[in-house]
Amino acid sequence: MVEINKPINLGMGCPDFDAWPQSIMEAMADIVQNGSCLLHQYTKSPGHPRLVKVLGQLYSHLLGRTVNGDDNILITIGAYEALHCTIYGLVNTGDQVIIIDPAYDAYDMITKAAGGIPVHVALKRMDNRVNGENHSGWTLDFEELESKFNARTRFIIVNTPNNPLGKVYTKEELTKIADLCHKYNIIAIMDEVYEWLTYGSNEHFRLASLPGMFEKSITIGSLGKAFNVTGWRCGWAVTGNTKIREAMTLAHMSSVYVCPTPIQEAAARTFELELQKLRDNQIDDMYWTQLTSLLTKKRDMLFNMLSELGFNPMVPEGGYYLVADCRRLIDRLNLNDYFDKRGKTFSLVRWLSKHGVQGVPLTVFYRQENQHLAEGLVRFCFIKSDETLLKARDALIRMTQLVDNCDIDEQQHHNNSYIIEV
Ligand code: PMP
Repeated sequence: MVEINKPINLGMGCPDFDAWPQSIMEAMADIVQNGSCLLHQYTKSPGHPRLVKVLGQLYSHLLGRTVNGDDNILITIGAYEALHCTIYGLVNTGDQVIIIDPAYDAYDMITKAAGGIPVHVALKRMDNRVNGENHSGWTLDFEELESKFNARTRFIIVNTPNNPLGKVYTKEELTKIADLCHKYNIIAIMDEVYEWLTYGSNEHFRLASLPGMFEKSITIGSLGKAFNVTGWRCGWAVTGNTKIREAMTLAHMSSVYVCPTPIQEAAARTFELELQKLRDNQIDDMYWTQLTSLLTKKRDMLFNMLSELGFNPMVPEGGYYLVADCRRLIDRLNLNDYFDKRGKTFSLVRWLSKHGVQGVPLTVFYRQENQHLAEGLVRFCFIKSDETLLKARDALIRMTQLVDNCDIDEQQHHNNSYIIEV
């Protein structure tokens, strides 16, 4: 057996190469070398004026309506703080928050910390997937969703494109969610941190652009995901509801108070350049167009190598994660030495990690009662250098050989109705 101490990290949701636009680094260098001394001091608490202004212009363009930076936008420490300010600032004890599993774990945690009650509903996996490019294979049961709404419901949180599945919600799905928001008078928290990353014919649709929904939603974005600088920790929330924006600003002022000025200034300058290209219809020159085409290749590379090796991956419509269905591998392996009380998927991930590739068990994205839906599913991140992806491929090939050579019970082997390539 090949002993590998440090697995190839396809677990962490960030690039391991220079995936940012050159302009953001140039802007930061210029701020440090030539910028006014004031760019190194506190800026306005709700957001640095230059960033707030350009985000207002950008979202006006994206939503097809006027978004006024000063009234509608709050700058935060990453999208994470925007989620925190939204939920912490607005959820009262006993308020219910609907969360769609699989979900980013912060939603449940912050809701509970704020005294709220998370109410989970899970996406259903369709048996007959149409095809990966047009259909994620994951769908919401709207009857079940509606059954979760009641007088204590305050928010629904929707993440599109979704982490971990890469599901991109369609206009039709978001319209149904908006209808429920109107019917039950609740607010939608739209976590859209992967908004720029959709593949093929899939398009990111913004719920806030639907009639009456700018006032009934909070759209959350991330500089870390937009320009691949997750360590810069900058995000924002956009809402047409000034009362909500006030409550969020209070939560922000009473904790973080003000976000770093140089980072916001560099972000603003980079957004200004991208916005100009958008206005001039120079779409091919935009950073996100180029990033998406780069990531399409990486997605396909990881997809192909996982499918060749029998890992049964699903094609993501957006984001930079890919989920593989490893149930057949679990059946084939003796995982006794990797026992994990959280279940077999964790054991499998420990086995994968020991043999060279780190992934994330989908179990962590589900509340306990829905965790059976995650069995055997592992998330891999593909915003990695080709070198990293090729190293992961080598490790996966070694694993395949290991499994092929492993001592399987012949009878069990014959009883299996499927052919296992791994
Ligand atoms: N929402 C989702 C769905 C995420 O995946 C992440 C980060 N992985 C965040 C929010 C937090 O983003 P940020 O790094 O900007 O805080």
